[in-house]
Amino acid sequence: MKLDILAIGAHPDDVELSCGATIAKEVAQGKQVGILDLTRGELGTRGTAQTRDEEAKDAAAILKVAVRENLKFADGFFINDKKHQLEIIKVIRKYQPDVVFCNALDDRHIDHSKGSKLASDACFLSGLVKIETKDEFGNTQPAWRPKHVYHYIQWKNLQPDFVVDVTGYIDVKMQSVLAYKTQFFDENSKEPQTPISSKNFADSVIYRARDLGRLVGVEYGEGFNVERYVAVDSVFDLK
Ligand SMILES: [Zn+2]
Repeated sequence: MKLDILAIGAHPDDVELSCGATIAKEVAQGKQVGILDLTRGELGTRGTAQTRDEEAKDAAAILKVAVRENLKFADGFFINDKKHQLEIIKVIRKYQPDVVFCNALDDRHIDHSKGSKLASDACFLSGLVKIETKDEFGNTQPAWRPKHVYHYIQWKNLQPDFVVDVTGYIDVKMQSVLAYKTQFFDENSKEPQTPISSKNFADSVIYRARDLGRLVGVEYGEGFNVERYVAVDSVFDLK
């Protein structure tokens, strides 16, 4: 199956929190979107790897993505080396996405900036024909380089290079976020508090989208950073 967009995240829930509404909108417009989680989030203070697996499945169904895979790298400790790059390259070549979303360029959790660079490096290397990989049936995979790599924004308030108008998709985004029942605000939870389990954090996901929307003249927005300048055919392409 060929994908239009592959959204890569260090942990299950990174993608939902940062670009869930953009994904829901692209899916609604007929695009094939997949999610690749690098780890199972097994070091998360709340919940377990098993609960996270279930929650990720529920969130994927809410966003109506075509596929969701998990590379089971070590949460907190994966590194950007040949072994990890090759695992991601195999997934990129399998799904041949035109656009890849990946973690924020800079963030509070160390896996986010690590995952960001790892995914971006894998996208570049995936285009090199002399790097040979095989699919699950032992067939040689053709080289494939996504046209664009866009970094979503998560914890820190990074300044976006462009904003997607996600008006109409914030509710489905929040449903996908709150599918991670063990992770986010739940007044009845007995689990320890974490920076992302507060009501303040859950609210911030919505008010940031609202604020970005305000700044670009729409109701809600999600921001992204680019690695190279964005180009348009015409100045009238911009909203
Ligand atoms: Zn994360």
